[in-house]
Amino acid sequence: MEEYLKIEREKEWRADLRKTIKNKERIELQRVKMPSLDPMERIKYQDREVNLGLDIQSAKAEAVRCMDCVNPTCIEGCPVSINIPKFIKNIERGEVLEAAKALKETSALPAVCGRVCPQEKQCEANCFYTLKLKKEPVAIGFLERFAADFEQNSDTISVPETAPGNNIKVAAIGSGPASLSFAGDMVKLGYDVTVFEALHEIGGVLKYGIPEFRLPNKVVDIELESLRKMGVKFERNFIVGRTASFNDLKEEGFQAFFVASGAGLPRFMNLPGENYNGILSSNEYLTRVNLMHAAQDNYDTPVLKGKNVAVIGGGNTAMDSVRTAKRLGAERAMIVYRRSREEMPARVEEVHHAEEEGIEFLNLNNPVEYFADENGRVNRMRVQKMELGEPDASGRRRPVVIEGSEYDIPVDVVVVAIGVSPNPLVPSELPDLKVSRWGTIDVDPETMQSSMPELFAGGDIVRGGATVILAMGDGRKAAAGMHQYLLTANKTNKEKIEAKAK
Ligand code: FAD
Ligand code: SF4
Repeated sequence: MEEYLKIEREKEWRADLRKTIKNKERIELQRVKMPSLDPMERIKYQDREVNLGLDIQSAKAEAVRCMDCVNPTCIEGCPVSINIPKFIKNIERGEVLEAAKALKETSALPAVCGRVCPQEKQCEANCFYTLKLKKEPVAIGFLERFAADFEQNSDTISVPETAPGNNIKVAAIGSGPASLSFAGDMVKLGYDVTVFEALHEIGGVLKYGIPEFRLPNKVVDIELESLRKMGVKFERNFIVGRTASFNDLKEEGFQAFFVASGAGLPRFMNLPGENYNGILSSNEYLTRVNLMHAAQDNYDTPVLKGKNVAVIGGGNTAMDSVRTAKRLGAERAMIVYRRSREEMPARVEEVHHAEEEGIEFLNLNNPVEYFADENGRVNRMRVQKMELGEPDASGRRRPVVIEGSEYDIPVDVVVVAIGVSPNPLVPSELPDLKVSRWGTIDVDPETMQSSMPELFAGGDIVRGGATVILAMGDGRKAAAGMHQYLLTANKTNKEKIEAKAK
């Protein structure tokens, strides 16, 4: 990797570009701002994207800020190790399609990641500007989105090269980012890859969870098309463990499996009154709107619309739910979160956008009980106030109850977004598979291989609810691990793989 970065950095065009402006001048340039739709306008639409993307002038100007460091620490913060300076310098010199190609060397979903990754905690947190200069980092995420969109809107969508097919069949279970990243790497190595998805749409949370105002479906679909062109096969409406078992798939010739079935099982708080009508999980709420199109007049999927909607939680799912409620017409859409604003796990940008849209934040508040009208429909919630105590195991300060601080809030819809648990179907079908007491699959963290040698796993089914890019990183590691496993699993495989590699 280091050698590759060095070779790329020493290319003549990059050396010439570095000489065009002194670093002293680069660091004086201001970070670009992302243009966005007016908040009062955007809350009228479920499917109009909030961020509008950079134009070529501002993208190039931002790219100039990057110093093309000898030791690009930004890459260390990226779970899929994108060659960040290479793609950014290509934007600076105006070769945006080359920038998009550089992204695709290691990422199957750059247009998605440019929109949803928490860059402020990853690559941008590790940028020289943040670490050493204490200045705003290079806007790596905005530039990633720019390059990927530029390519999506051009007539020339690059499809990464693939090795000649070796006819070895492998399966990915689930079609979220972990599987898509795995499938991209395996098909590049020449494997015959099929992705099995239980739902009628491919994409996992990218389709059923994250709303279109943040990640339009068409952006995901174009990325999927690249994978199809590379040879990845997709089977929808196919529940592994029900539609067919692992043994059925083995009989069909699949030699190894990557399980990335996610963590889609909602959690509740088990509070008095939590079963009243009008209280539902964020998973159900968002799936109705995003996957089943409940907000559109030409679909008959029902969804609860409230005047006073409370969303419990402080992560991305909570933010997506509360902003969805606003778009469905809520007069008061509230986040109720037991910790302070600083501890909210949601992306900083989502919190900022939510605030612009008039979302109320009841931080340091925790629900304790729900009340209902004579028809059993929730009409009130009791919350208690919290204060921050000593740090807990996660390093965040523990919320502590303020005794006697309870008060009531009128609500007619409550969306619970306090986390998810692993989807249980796959592990229960495989008694030899080692799982943790939380139901996540145990794997070797380097190879993602499970206690069953032919079965690898990654993403939320291993981590129990994480991020798109961590899931994608797992997919890449699993592809490398499975390739090694298949090379050594039997002699015929090795011969097949090596014959095709010649
Ligand atoms: P998933 O994306 O969950 O996909 C798993 C797929 O497996 C599902 O489609 C499921 O139907 C399928 N499946 C399950 N069982 C079977 C079976 N037996 N057979 C076949 N298919 C099966 N992360 C970020 O980085 N940034 C964000 O802004 C962000 N926002 C989020 C917003 C919401 C509302 C949610 C819910 C999550 C968000 N996340 C975000 C987290 C991120 O989306 C997940 O960490 C990521 O999608 C996990 O990927 P995965 O591939 O492991 O699983
Ligand atoms: Fe550019 Fe920052 Fe990476 Fe250096 S650390 S190469 S300045 S993005």
